[in-house]
Amino acid sequence: MADQQMSAETLRPVVAIDGPAGSGKSSTARAVAARLGFAHLDTGAWYRVLTWIGLRDGVDPADAQVLNSALAHFDQVVASSFGADRITVGGVDVTEAIRTPEVSQSVSRYSSVPAVRDHLNHAFRHLAATTSAPGLVVEGRDITTVTFPDAAVRILLTASVDARARRRAAQLGSDDVAGIAQRISERDARDLTVVDFANAADGVTLLDTSDLTLDEVTETVADLVAASTTKEHHE
Ligand code: C5P
Repeated sequence: MADQQMSAETLRPVVAIDGPAGSGKSSTARAVAARLGFAHLDTGAWYRVLTWIGLRDGVDPADAQVLNSALAHFDQVVASSFGADRITVGGVDVTEAIRTPEVSQSVSRYSSVPAVRDHLNHAFRHLAATTSAPGLVVEGRDITTVTFPDAAVRILLTASVDARARRRAAQLGSDDVAGIAQRISERDARDLTVVDFANAADGVTLLDTSDLTLDEVTETVADLVAASTTKEHHE
């Protein structure tokens, strides 16, 4: 409740973007943030950081005490690395390490724990309330529904598994589109047991990016932000 109040009291506009892996949300969020001069918060990266810490320290997500100490460590990393180009954990640069298949396969073990989600959502709302940027573009899986349900703009990006796998393959320089499609589907299935990012909640704009370029998606999102600002001025 206190968190909900904090987000409602935050004057900086939040653009909330949800979507599955490969839907284009990171590229879109980054491009929209750059265009508007807003800060960009990739919440998936922070779930990955916690997972990296958990794997390094052998943290069993079911052990509340050990999990709490990993979360405390996580808070120190957020405080020192948010907004920086690189993410460091205790002096180790983990910017690339959090993107390895090992981390991708393990994130849901941690992200499916309610106490983890509550803790990270609290940290995200705190960042939104304290950032010096004029606004924030936040991307993830439950941003439009749980983290910032009252965001100025809420968007759910979707794309066919095939389109998403082709994008990921191009990013990774791989030609194993079928293998990537299978891993994407498996991760979706695990994540969908925790949050529903396959259906747009009430008031959330659904945008299928399968046949759109990044520029077209960015333009559409920027238009939605502009429309929300105009609407606000008329209310
Ligand atoms: O966005 P990305 O694919 O990097 O997210 C990595 C993982 O973090 C997801 O597979 C999911 O388990 C978790 N996640 C989450 N809630 C968010 C963002 C990410 O559970 N808001």
